[in-house]
Amino acid sequence: MQRYSLFSLARNALTGHRDWQAVWRSPPLGKRYDVVIVGAGGHGLATAYYLARNHDITRVAVLERGWLGGGNVARNTVTIRSNYLRDESIPFYVKSVSLYRDLSRELNFNLMFSQRSMIDVVQTYPRLRDIKRRMLNMDLHGASYEVLDVDELRRRIPALTGGGPRSRLPIIAGMAHRNAGVARHDAVAWGYARAADARGIELHQHTEVTGFERGGRGEITGVQTSRGTVQTNKVAICVSGHTRTLTDGLGLRLPLQSFNLTAFVSEPVKPLIDVVVNMPDSHCYLSQSDKGELVIGGGVDPGISFRRGIKEGVFEDTVTAVLEMFPALQRLKLLRQWGGTLDTASDSSPIVSRTDIPGLYVSAGWWGGFKAIPAGGLTLAHLIANDAPHPLIEPFSLNRFRSLDFVLETGTTAR
Ligand SMILES: Cc1cc2nc3c(=O)[nH]c(=O)nc-3n(C[C@H](O)[C@H](O)[C@H](O)COP(=O)(O)OP(=O)(O)OC[C@H]3O[C@@H](n4cnc5c(N)ncnc54)[C@H](O)[C@@H]3O)c2cc1C
Repeated sequence: MQRYSLFSLARNALTGHRDWQAVWRSPPLGKRYDVVIVGAGGHGLATAYYLARNHDITRVAVLERGWLGGGNVARNTVTIRSNYLRDESIPFYVKSVSLYRDLSRELNFNLMFSQRSMIDVVQTYPRLRDIKRRMLNMDLHGASYEVLDVDELRRRIPALTGGGPRSRLPIIAGMAHRNAGVARHDAVAWGYARAADARGIELHQHTEVTGFERGGRGEITGVQTSRGTVQTNKVAICVSGHTRTLTDGLGLRLPLQSFNLTAFVSEPVKPLIDVVVNMPDSHCYLSQSDKGELVIGGGVDPGISFRRGIKEGVFEDTVTAVLEMFPALQRLKLLRQWGGTLDTASDSSPIVSRTDIPGLYVSAGWWGGFKAIPAGGLTLAHLIANDAPHPLIEPFSLNRFRSLDFVLETGTTAR
Protein backbone atom coordinates (compact mmCIF):
# COMPACT_ATOMS: atom_id res chain seq x y z
CA MET A 1 0.00 0.00 0.00
CA GLN A 2 1.32 3.41 -0.93
CA ARG A 3 1.82 5.30 2.35
CA TYR A 4 0.24 8.71 2.65
CA SER A 5 2.47 11.26 4.36
CA LEU A 6 3.75 14.80 4.03
CA PHE A 7 6.70 13.44 2.03
CA SER A 8 4.57 11.45 -0.41
CA LEU A 9 2.38 14.53 -0.87
CA ALA A 10 5.44 16.69 -1.62
CA ARG A 11 6.95 14.03 -3.92
CA ASN A 12 3.74 13.68 -5.90
CA ALA A 13 3.31 17.45 -6.10
CA LEU A 14 6.55 17.54 -8.10
CA THR A 15 4.98 15.30 -10.78
CA GLY A 16 1.66 17.11 -10.85
CA HIS A 17 -0.09 14.39 -8.78
CA ARG A 18 -0.17 12.08 -11.81
CA ASP A 19 1.68 9.15 -10.19
CA TRP A 20 -0.55 8.27 -7.24
CA GLN A 21 -1.43 4.56 -7.15
CA ALA A 22 -5.08 3.55 -7.49
CA VAL A 23 -6.56 3.43 -3.98
CA TRP A 24 -7.75 -0.16 -4.52
CA ARG A 25 -7.52 -2.71 -7.35
CA SER A 26 -10.34 -3.95 -9.60
CA PRO A 27 -9.49 -7.64 -10.08
CA PRO A 28 -11.63 -10.03 -12.14
CA LEU A 29 -14.33 -11.82 -10.15
CA GLY A 30 -13.05 -15.24 -9.05
CA LYS A 31 -14.94 -18.55 -8.99
CA ARG A 32 -14.31 -19.39 -5.33
CA TYR A 33 -13.49 -17.57 -2.06
CA ASP A 34 -13.16 -18.64 1.57
CA VAL A 35 -15.55 -15.87 2.63
CA VAL A 36 -17.97 -13.68 0.68
CA ILE A 37 -19.17 -10.46 2.28
CA VAL A 38 -22.33 -8.94 0.81
CA GLY A 39 -22.29 -5.13 0.98
CA ALA A 40 -19.35 -2.71 0.79
CA GLY A 41 -20.64 -0.35 3.45
CA GLY A 42 -18.83 0.41 6.67
CA HIS A 43 -19.61 -2.93 8.31
CA GLY A 44 -18.77 -5.10 5.29
CA LEU A 45 -15.47 -3.34 4.65
CA ALA A 46 -14.41 -3.28 8.30
CA THR A 47 -15.21 -7.00 8.59
CA ALA A 48 -13.06 -7.73 5.52
CA TYR A 49 -10.18 -5.70 6.96
CA TYR A 50 -10.25 -7.42 10.37
CA LEU A 51 -10.56 -10.87 8.75
CA ALA A 52 -7.25 -10.20 7.03
CA ARG A 53 -5.53 -8.30 9.83
CA ASN A 54 -6.56 -10.37 12.84
CA HIS A 55 -7.19 -13.82 11.34
CA ASP A 56 -5.04 -14.00 8.20
CA ILE A 57 -8.09 -14.82 6.10
CA THR A 58 -7.54 -13.06 2.79
CA ARG A 59 -9.34 -15.15 0.15
CA VAL A 60 -12.29 -12.86 0.68
CA ALA A 61 -14.55 -11.04 -1.79
CA VAL A 62 -16.68 -8.06 -0.83
CA LEU A 63 -19.59 -7.85 -3.30
CA GLU A 64 -21.35 -4.50 -3.67
CA ARG A 65 -24.35 -3.92 -5.89
CA GLY A 66 -23.68 -0.19 -6.29
CA TRP A 67 -20.47 1.65 -5.65
CA LEU A 68 -18.24 1.25 -2.65
CA GLY A 69 -19.44 3.33 0.29
CA GLY A 70 -22.55 4.56 -1.52
CA GLY A 71 -25.02 3.27 1.09
CA ASN A 72 -25.77 4.51 4.58
CA VAL A 73 -22.12 4.85 5.44
CA ALA A 74 -22.19 7.93 3.18
CA ARG A 75 -25.69 9.04 4.21
CA ASN A 76 -25.39 9.35 7.95
CA THR A 77 -24.88 12.33 10.21
CA VAL A 78 -21.54 11.00 11.52
CA THR A 79 -22.25 11.03 15.27
CA ILE A 80 -20.12 8.59 17.24
CA ARG A 81 -21.13 8.00 20.86
CA SER A 82 -21.41 5.38 23.60
CA ASN A 83 -24.30 6.71 25.71
CA TYR A 84 -26.37 3.53 25.84
CA LEU A 85 -28.31 2.04 28.73
CA ARG A 86 -27.65 -1.68 29.02
CA ASP A 87 -24.66 -3.57 30.41
CA GLU A 88 -24.60 -5.58 27.17
CA SER A 89 -24.48 -2.52 24.90
CA ILE A 90 -22.21 0.02 26.57
CA PRO A 91 -18.92 -1.99 26.45
CA PHE A 92 -19.47 -2.66 22.73
CA TYR A 93 -19.86 1.04 21.91
CA VAL A 94 -17.04 2.06 24.28
CA LYS A 95 -14.80 -0.31 22.32
CA SER A 96 -15.97 1.13 19.02
CA VAL A 97 -15.24 4.73 20.08
CA SER A 98 -11.81 3.68 21.32
CA LEU A 99 -11.03 1.98 17.99
CA TYR A 100 -12.09 5.14 16.13
CA ARG A 101 -9.56 7.15 18.15
CA ASP A 102 -6.55 5.35 16.61
CA LEU A 103 -8.05 4.41 13.27
CA SER A 104 -6.61 7.20 11.12
CA ARG A 105 -3.10 6.16 12.08
CA GLU A 106 -3.85 2.44 11.75
CA LEU A 107 -5.39 2.76 8.28
CA ASN A 108 -2.98 5.54 7.20
CA PHE A 109 -6.03 7.48 6.07
CA ASN A 110 -7.29 10.70 7.62
CA LEU A 111 -10.79 9.97 8.96
CA MET A 112 -11.02 13.48 10.43
CA PHE A 113 -12.11 11.99 13.74
CA SER A 114 -12.91 14.77 16.19
CA GLN A 115 -13.91 13.81 19.72
CA ARG A 116 -15.77 17.04 20.35
CA SER A 117 -18.45 15.65 22.74
CA MET A 118 -22.22 15.66 22.46
CA ILE A 119 -24.53 17.75 24.59
CA ASP A 120 -28.14 16.75 25.18
CA VAL A 121 -30.49 19.69 25.61
CA VAL A 122 -33.08 18.39 28.08
CA GLN A 123 -36.60 19.86 28.16
CA THR A 124 -38.65 17.35 30.21
CA TYR A 125 -38.17 15.73 33.63
CA PRO A 126 -38.83 12.14 32.47
CA ARG A 127 -36.04 12.59 29.90
CA LEU A 128 -33.68 13.97 32.55
CA ARG A 129 -34.42 10.99 34.80
CA ASP A 130 -33.84 8.59 31.92
CA ILE A 131 -30.49 10.13 30.96
CA LYS A 132 -29.32 10.24 34.59
CA ARG A 133 -30.10 6.53 34.83
CA ARG A 134 -27.96 5.95 31.76
CA MET A 135 -25.21 8.10 33.30
CA LEU A 136 -24.96 5.82 36.35
CA ASN A 137 -24.69 2.68 34.22
CA MET A 138 -22.26 4.24 31.74
CA ASP A 139 -20.01 5.17 34.68
CA LEU A 140 -19.55 1.47 35.38
CA HIS A 141 -18.27 0.82 31.86
CA GLY A 142 -15.92 3.74 31.26
CA ALA A 143 -18.25 6.09 29.35
CA SER A 144 -19.19 9.42 30.82
CA TYR A 145 -22.16 11.74 31.11
CA GLU A 146 -22.08 15.01 33.06
CA VAL A 147 -25.07 17.06 34.22
CA LEU A 148 -24.92 20.76 33.20
CA ASP A 149 -27.11 23.49 34.62
CA VAL A 150 -28.82 25.80 32.13
CA ASP A 151 -26.26 28.61 32.49
CA GLU A 152 -23.35 26.25 31.83
CA LEU A 153 -25.24 24.72 28.90
CA ARG A 154 -25.74 28.14 27.31
CA ARG A 155 -22.10 29.03 27.96
CA ARG A 156 -20.97 25.91 26.07
CA ILE A 157 -23.39 26.49 23.17
CA PRO A 158 -23.67 30.30 22.79
CA ALA A 159 -25.94 29.99 19.71
CA LEU A 160 -28.55 28.20 21.84
CA THR A 161 -30.68 31.26 22.63
CA GLY A 162 -34.17 29.66 22.44
CA GLY A 163 -35.90 27.42 24.97
CA GLY A 164 -36.14 30.17 27.61
CA PRO A 165 -38.48 30.07 30.65
CA ARG A 166 -41.46 31.38 28.62
CA SER A 167 -41.18 28.93 25.77
CA ARG A 168 -43.44 25.92 25.18
CA LEU A 169 -40.84 23.47 26.54
CA PRO A 170 -38.21 25.41 28.51
CA ILE A 171 -34.73 23.93 28.77
CA ILE A 172 -34.21 22.45 32.23
CA ALA A 173 -30.69 21.00 31.98
CA GLY A 174 -27.94 19.74 29.73
CA MET A 175 -26.10 16.44 29.73
CA ALA A 176 -22.57 16.36 28.26
CA HIS A 177 -21.27 13.09 26.82
CA ARG A 178 -17.54 13.74 26.50
CA ASN A 179 -16.69 10.52 24.63
CA ALA A 180 -18.80 11.46 21.62
CA GLY A 181 -17.43 12.82 18.37
CA VAL A 182 -17.69 12.85 14.60
CA ALA A 183 -15.66 11.43 11.69
CA ARG A 184 -15.75 11.92 7.95
CA HIS A 185 -18.15 9.20 6.75
CA ASP A 186 -16.77 8.51 3.25
CA ALA A 187 -13.26 8.34 4.64
CA VAL A 188 -14.26 5.52 6.99
CA ALA A 189 -15.40 3.43 4.01
CA TRP A 190 -12.43 4.41 1.83
CA GLY A 191 -9.90 3.90 4.64
CA TYR A 192 -11.11 0.38 5.43
CA ALA A 193 -11.42 -0.47 1.72
CA ARG A 194 -7.87 0.62 0.95
CA ALA A 195 -6.38 -1.21 3.93
CA ALA A 196 -8.39 -4.39 3.17
CA ASP A 197 -7.32 -4.29 -0.48
CA ALA A 198 -3.69 -3.89 0.57
CA ARG A 199 -4.01 -7.14 2.54
CA GLY A 200 -5.31 -9.04 -0.49
CA ILE A 201 -9.07 -8.72 -0.07
CA GLU A 202 -10.97 -8.30 -3.36
CA LEU A 203 -13.58 -5.55 -3.68
CA HIS A 204 -16.14 -6.01 -6.47
CA GLN A 205 -18.44 -3.09 -7.19
CA HIS A 206 -21.58 -3.34 -9.35
CA THR A 207 -21.97 -6.97 -8.31
CA GLU A 208 -25.39 -7.59 -6.79
CA VAL A 209 -26.06 -10.74 -4.80
CA THR A 210 -29.40 -12.07 -5.98
CA GLY A 211 -29.61 -15.48 -4.28
CA PHE A 212 -27.76 -18.33 -2.61
CA GLU A 213 -26.54 -21.83 -3.48
CA ARG A 214 -27.25 -24.49 -0.85
CA GLY A 215 -25.90 -28.01 -0.26
CA GLY A 216 -27.70 -31.20 0.84
CA ARG A 217 -27.85 -30.13 4.54
CA GLY A 218 -29.09 -26.70 3.56
CA GLU A 219 -25.64 -25.25 4.13
CA ILE A 220 -24.33 -22.34 2.07
CA THR A 221 -22.21 -23.38 -0.91
CA GLY A 222 -22.21 -20.16 -2.91
CA VAL A 223 -23.92 -16.94 -3.93
CA GLN A 224 -25.68 -16.04 -7.17
CA THR A 225 -24.74 -12.61 -8.41
CA SER A 226 -25.52 -10.32 -11.31
CA ARG A 227 -22.14 -11.45 -12.70
CA GLY A 228 -22.51 -15.20 -12.20
CA THR A 229 -22.22 -17.73 -9.39
CA VAL A 230 -19.43 -17.57 -6.82
CA GLN A 231 -18.63 -20.57 -4.63
CA THR A 232 -17.98 -20.18 -0.92
CA ASN A 233 -18.90 -21.87 2.35
CA LYS A 234 -19.17 -18.67 4.39
CA VAL A 235 -21.32 -15.66 3.57
CA ALA A 236 -21.74 -12.57 5.75
CA ILE A 237 -24.74 -10.35 4.96
CA CYS A 238 -23.89 -6.69 5.74
CA VAL A 239 -26.49 -4.83 3.67
CA SER A 240 -27.91 -2.45 6.28
CA GLY A 241 -31.64 -1.76 5.62
CA HIS A 242 -31.92 -4.49 2.97
CA THR A 243 -31.18 -7.58 5.08
CA ARG A 244 -34.62 -9.17 4.75
CA THR A 245 -34.61 -8.66 0.98
CA LEU A 246 -31.96 -11.40 0.99
CA THR A 247 -32.87 -13.49 4.03
CA ASP A 248 -36.64 -13.80 3.37
CA GLY A 249 -35.79 -15.71 0.16
CA LEU A 250 -33.92 -18.27 2.27
CA GLY A 251 -36.95 -18.88 4.47
CA LEU A 252 -35.13 -17.18 7.34
CA ARG A 253 -37.52 -14.96 9.29
CA LEU A 254 -35.59 -12.17 11.00
CA PRO A 255 -37.26 -9.79 13.49
CA LEU A 256 -36.32 -6.71 11.44
CA GLN A 257 -38.31 -3.86 9.92
CA SER A 258 -36.98 -1.24 7.50
CA PHE A 259 -37.49 2.50 7.92
CA ASN A 260 -36.40 5.66 6.20
CA LEU A 261 -34.23 8.13 8.14
CA THR A 262 -33.39 11.53 6.67
CA ALA A 263 -31.02 14.42 7.16
CA PHE A 264 -30.17 17.76 5.56
CA VAL A 265 -27.37 20.32 5.53
CA SER A 266 -27.26 24.10 5.43
CA GLU A 267 -25.01 26.39 3.47
CA PRO A 268 -21.56 26.73 5.08
CA VAL A 269 -21.19 29.38 7.77
CA LYS A 270 -18.40 30.48 10.10
CA PRO A 271 -17.70 28.31 13.17
CA LEU A 272 -20.83 28.46 15.31
CA ILE A 273 -21.29 25.15 17.15
CA ASP A 274 -18.31 23.06 18.27
CA VAL A 275 -20.16 20.10 19.82
CA VAL A 276 -22.85 17.73 18.60
CA VAL A 277 -26.14 19.15 19.94
CA ASN A 278 -28.85 16.59 20.59
CA MET A 279 -32.41 17.63 21.43
CA PRO A 280 -34.06 14.33 22.39
CA ASP A 281 -37.37 15.89 23.50
CA SER A 282 -37.79 17.56 20.10
CA HIS A 283 -36.36 14.64 18.08
CA CYS A 284 -33.60 16.52 16.31
CA TYR A 285 -29.85 17.04 16.48
CA LEU A 286 -27.17 19.03 14.70
CA SER A 287 -23.44 19.52 14.38
CA GLN A 288 -21.20 21.65 12.21
CA SER A 289 -19.01 20.01 9.61
CA ASP A 290 -15.42 21.07 8.94
CA LYS A 291 -16.69 22.79 5.78
CA GLY A 292 -19.01 24.91 7.95
CA GLU A 293 -22.32 23.29 6.97
CA LEU A 294 -24.79 22.56 9.72
CA VAL A 295 -25.66 18.86 9.53
CA ILE A 296 -29.19 18.38 10.83
CA GLY A 297 -31.06 15.15 11.53
CA GLY A 298 -34.59 14.51 12.70
CA GLY A 299 -36.89 11.69 13.69
CA VAL A 300 -37.66 8.64 11.63
CA ASP A 301 -40.34 8.59 8.91
CA PRO A 302 -43.56 7.10 10.25
CA GLY A 303 -44.26 3.67 8.76
CA ILE A 304 -42.13 0.93 7.26
CA SER A 305 -40.64 1.87 3.89
CA PHE A 306 -37.65 1.76 1.53
CA ARG A 307 -38.09 5.35 0.34
CA ARG A 308 -35.09 7.65 0.41
CA GLY A 309 -36.67 11.10 0.16
CA ILE A 310 -37.73 13.21 3.12
CA LYS A 311 -41.36 13.33 4.28
CA GLU A 312 -42.73 16.88 4.40
CA GLY A 313 -44.02 16.44 7.97
CA VAL A 314 -40.70 15.13 9.31
CA PHE A 315 -38.85 17.98 7.60
CA GLU A 316 -41.20 20.64 9.00
CA ASP A 317 -41.11 19.21 12.53
CA THR A 318 -37.31 19.09 12.47
CA VAL A 319 -36.89 22.64 11.14
CA THR A 320 -39.43 23.98 13.66
CA ALA A 321 -37.65 22.27 16.54
CA VAL A 322 -34.23 23.55 15.47
CA LEU A 323 -35.48 27.13 15.06
CA GLU A 324 -37.18 27.06 18.46
CA MET A 325 -33.76 26.45 20.02
CA PHE A 326 -31.59 28.36 17.53
CA PRO A 327 -33.73 31.30 16.28
CA ALA A 328 -30.65 32.93 14.72
CA LEU A 329 -30.62 30.20 12.06
CA GLN A 330 -33.90 31.46 10.56
CA ARG A 331 -32.33 32.88 7.40
CA LEU A 332 -29.92 30.04 6.79
CA LYS A 333 -30.35 28.37 3.39
CA LEU A 334 -30.59 24.60 3.20
CA LEU A 335 -28.45 23.02 0.50
CA ARG A 336 -29.19 19.30 0.35
CA GLN A 337 -31.43 16.66 1.90
CA TRP A 338 -31.33 12.88 1.63
CA GLY A 339 -32.53 9.67 3.25
CA GLY A 340 -31.36 6.12 3.87
CA THR A 341 -33.01 2.80 4.65
CA LEU A 342 -32.20 1.27 8.02
CA ASP A 343 -33.46 -1.89 9.59
CA THR A 344 -34.18 -2.19 13.25
CA ALA A 345 -34.87 -5.20 15.49
CA SER A 346 -37.77 -5.24 17.92
CA ASP A 347 -35.48 -4.43 20.89
CA SER A 348 -33.59 -1.71 18.91
CA SER A 349 -30.27 -3.55 19.34
CA PRO A 350 -28.14 -4.94 16.53
CA ILE A 351 -27.99 -8.55 15.37
CA VAL A 352 -24.48 -9.91 14.81
CA SER A 353 -24.97 -13.61 14.61
CA ARG A 354 -24.73 -17.02 13.08
CA THR A 355 -28.02 -18.21 11.63
CA ASP A 356 -29.77 -21.58 11.44
CA ILE A 357 -28.28 -21.93 7.95
CA PRO A 358 -24.72 -23.30 8.27
CA GLY A 359 -22.23 -20.83 6.80
CA LEU A 360 -24.56 -17.82 6.87
CA TYR A 361 -23.80 -14.86 9.16
CA VAL A 362 -25.78 -11.66 9.58
CA SER A 363 -24.84 -8.18 10.73
CA ALA A 364 -28.05 -6.12 10.83
CA GLY A 365 -30.34 -3.93 12.90
CA TRP A 366 -27.85 -1.08 12.81
CA TRP A 367 -29.99 1.88 13.63
CA GLY A 368 -27.06 4.05 14.70
CA GLY A 369 -24.51 1.83 13.06
CA PHE A 370 -21.91 4.35 11.87
CA LYS A 371 -20.47 4.60 15.36
CA ALA A 372 -20.42 0.81 15.53
CA ILE A 373 -18.41 0.16 12.36
CA PRO A 374 -15.00 -0.59 13.94
CA ALA A 375 -16.32 -2.84 16.73
CA GLY A 376 -18.96 -4.35 14.43
CA GLY A 377 -16.30 -5.33 11.89
CA LEU A 378 -13.88 -6.57 14.53
CA THR A 379 -16.45 -8.82 16.20
CA LEU A 380 -18.07 -10.12 13.01
CA ALA A 381 -14.63 -11.08 11.68
CA HIS A 382 -14.00 -12.95 14.93
CA LEU A 383 -17.34 -14.75 14.61
CA ILE A 384 -16.66 -15.80 11.00
CA ALA A 385 -13.08 -16.88 11.67
CA ASN A 386 -13.83 -18.92 14.81
CA ASP A 387 -17.47 -19.79 14.23
CA ALA A 388 -17.92 -18.59 17.82
CA PRO A 389 -19.01 -15.13 18.96
CA HIS A 390 -16.62 -12.51 20.30
CA PRO A 391 -17.58 -11.79 23.95
CA LEU A 392 -18.66 -8.23 23.02
CA ILE A 393 -21.37 -9.48 20.64
CA GLU A 394 -22.52 -12.60 22.43
CA PRO A 395 -25.67 -10.83 23.71
CA PHE A 396 -26.51 -9.69 20.15
CA SER A 397 -27.06 -13.13 18.65
CA LEU A 398 -30.38 -14.27 17.16
CA ASN A 399 -30.79 -16.63 20.14
CA ARG A 400 -31.97 -13.72 22.24
CA PHE A 401 -35.29 -13.70 20.38
CA ARG A 402 -35.81 -17.38 21.26
CA SER A 403 -34.92 -17.06 24.93
CA LEU A 404 -36.46 -13.56 25.24
CA ASP A 405 -33.13 -12.15 26.45
CA PHE A 406 -33.77 -8.83 24.72
CA VAL A 407 -31.24 -6.01 24.97
CA LEU A 408 -33.83 -3.25 25.18
CA GLU A 409 -32.35 -0.01 23.89
CA THR A 410 -35.63 1.46 22.66
CA GLY A 411 -35.48 5.18 23.33
CA THR A 412 -31.67 5.41 23.59
CA THR A 413 -31.43 5.02 19.83
CA ALA A 414 -33.67 7.06 17.54
CA ARG A 415 -36.61 4.68 18.07
C1 LIG B 1 -29.93 9.98 7.61
C2 LIG B 1 -29.13 9.02 8.43
C3 LIG B 1 -28.44 9.50 9.54
C4 LIG B 1 -27.68 8.61 10.32
N1 LIG B 1 -26.94 9.12 11.35
C5 LIG B 1 -26.15 8.30 12.08
C6 LIG B 1 -25.30 8.84 13.09
O1 LIG B 1 -25.25 10.05 13.31
N2 LIG B 1 -24.54 7.97 13.81
C7 LIG B 1 -24.56 6.61 13.59
O2 LIG B 1 -23.86 5.88 14.29
N3 LIG B 1 -25.31 6.09 12.60
C8 LIG B 1 -26.11 6.88 11.84
N4 LIG B 1 -26.87 6.36 10.82
C9 LIG B 1 -26.89 4.90 10.62
C10 LIG B 1 -25.68 4.39 9.86
O3 LIG B 1 -25.47 5.13 8.70
C11 LIG B 1 -25.94 2.91 9.49
O4 LIG B 1 -26.37 2.19 10.63
C12 LIG B 1 -24.67 2.23 9.01
O5 LIG B 1 -24.01 3.01 8.03
C13 LIG B 1 -25.07 0.88 8.42
O6 LIG B 1 -23.99 0.09 8.11
P1 LIG B 1 -23.18 0.09 6.71
O7 LIG B 1 -22.29 1.29 6.72
O8 LIG B 1 -22.53 -1.21 6.60
O9 LIG B 1 -24.37 0.25 5.65
P2 LIG B 1 -24.34 0.66 4.12
O10 LIG B 1 -23.33 1.72 3.86
O11 LIG B 1 -25.75 0.94 3.74
O12 LIG B 1 -23.82 -0.67 3.42
C14 LIG B 1 -24.63 -1.70 2.91
C15 LIG B 1 -24.26 -1.92 1.46
O13 LIG B 1 -24.89 -3.10 0.98
C16 LIG B 1 -25.17 -2.92 -0.38
N5 LIG B 1 -26.17 -3.93 -0.79
C17 LIG B 1 -27.47 -4.00 -0.46
N6 LIG B 1 -28.04 -5.08 -1.00
C18 LIG B 1 -27.07 -5.71 -1.71
C19 LIG B 1 -27.03 -6.88 -2.52
N7 LIG B 1 -28.10 -7.63 -2.69
N8 LIG B 1 -25.85 -7.23 -3.11
C20 LIG B 1 -24.73 -6.49 -2.93
N9 LIG B 1 -24.71 -5.37 -2.18
C21 LIG B 1 -25.86 -4.99 -1.57
C22 LIG B 1 -25.67 -1.48 -0.45
O14 LIG B 1 -25.59 -0.97 -1.77
C23 LIG B 1 -24.73 -0.79 0.53
O15 LIG B 1 -23.61 -0.20 -0.10
C24 LIG B 1 -27.65 7.22 10.02
C25 LIG B 1 -28.33 6.75 8.88
C26 LIG B 1 -29.06 7.64 8.09
C27 LIG B 1 -29.77 7.11 6.89
